[in-house]
Amino acid sequence: TTLTVELGERSYPIVIGGGLLDSAAEHLRAVGVPDKSPLMIVTDDNVAPLYLEKLESELTNGGYRVVSAVVPAGEATKSLTVYNDLITQAIEAGLDRSSAILALGGGVVGDLAGYVAGTYMRGIRFIQVPTTILAHDSSVGGKVAVNHPLAKNMIGVFHQPELVLYDVDTLSTLPPREVRAGLSEMVKHGLIWDRAFAGWCWDNAPRLLALDPEALIYGLEKGCAIKAQIVSRDERENDLRAILNLGHTLGHAIEAVAGYGRFLHGEAIAVGMAAAALLGEERGGETGLYGETMLMLRALELPVTLPEDMDTEALMSAMQRDKKFREGKMVYIVPTEIGRVEIANDVEADAIRDIIERLKEKEE
Ligand code: NAD
Ligand code: ZN
Repeated sequence: TTLTVELGERSYPIVIGGGLLDSAAEHLRAVGVPDKSPLMIVTDDNVAPLYLEKLESELTNGGYRVVSAVVPAGEATKSLTVYNDLITQAIEAGLDRSSAILALGGGVVGDLAGYVAGTYMRGIRFIQVPTTILAHDSSVGGKVAVNHPLAKNMIGVFHQPELVLYDVDTLSTLPPREVRAGLSEMVKHGLIWDRAFAGWCWDNAPRLLALDPEALIYGLEKGCAIKAQIVSRDERENDLRAILNLGHTLGHAIEAVAGYGRFLHGEAIAVGMAAAALLGEERGGETGLYGETMLMLRALELPVTLPEDMDTEALMSAMQRDKKFREGKMVYIVPTEIGRVEIANDVEADAIRDIIERLKEKEE
């Protein structure tokens, strides 16, 4: 299947299917990537032994010159230090303004390589080759960034890819915990936009967790399509796009406070979505909003509570540093019913503090 992210002149295809790594060169040519300049593949040390050689040889056979950079796997790699190493490698390899950078991996590699592509020589071509479920979200939409020790994604730019090449065959090697974390962003797309899709994720949780190919492809297509629609309407997050941050204000704080990597991104935002649903129900949202959200997340084997020892005030400070705080009030994405959210700009810090405490009490 091919979906399109409609952004006028900068529109780009999302190609989803099996065996796509074997025809990567053809797909690059189709979007106009020239072969006169070297390409750089960025990947991590888990993905490299699995898929790097395949992609390198396919591109080389297709007439491209390729250099590869392998970074350590994990959230800590989204740093200025690793960014700087990659810029050095790009210069040494002679990447120029017609070169492309390919991100082969999950959201970490995508965000990092995208930030390199978005800033190297003021921005060069960028291709996403996602290999995680979570990356159905992160590879679409052009937000690329690295982390600062004090706050997630603090250093970044908007830089749209020219192609998202999503070979679902790569997902078969994902560790189960990463599968679950990825499904968190999938169900998020249902929770913000499409009640029927949220229900579908719930009903099909066992198939999704078992990586049933048919269920997986349907879920990824639907998730990408929702993300693409939202990004098309509001590329730079002036308004609508903010709804994609459901669960993320608290989620990012959890990631920062726990130490990057202790909570996977998808796990942290699952807790964040549970918190948002509780807040939503208290603010007069649909009855059962919180209960149903919890059941859905639990069906996907995601966490919905906070560890007892997590420091509430540390979470609050981390949220204050987050870019979703404006003029003292918190801009918070709050569900009103399953499949619908509001962008609330009147949420008091105390209301969030209270919810955090209650999510700790719910520990069983
Ligand atoms: P990740 O890139 O760390 O990948 C998860 C783990 O799976 C890593 O250890 C990786 O090496 C391994 N892996 C990847 N593909 C594999 C495969 N096919 N087989 C076996 N192992 C594989 O993490 P992620 O969950 O994909 O992405 C999380 C990141 O995405 C976070 O940094 C988050 O902030 C970011 N994100 C960005 C956006 C955006 O719009 N830019 C949206 C959502 C999330
Ligand atoms: Zn996310």
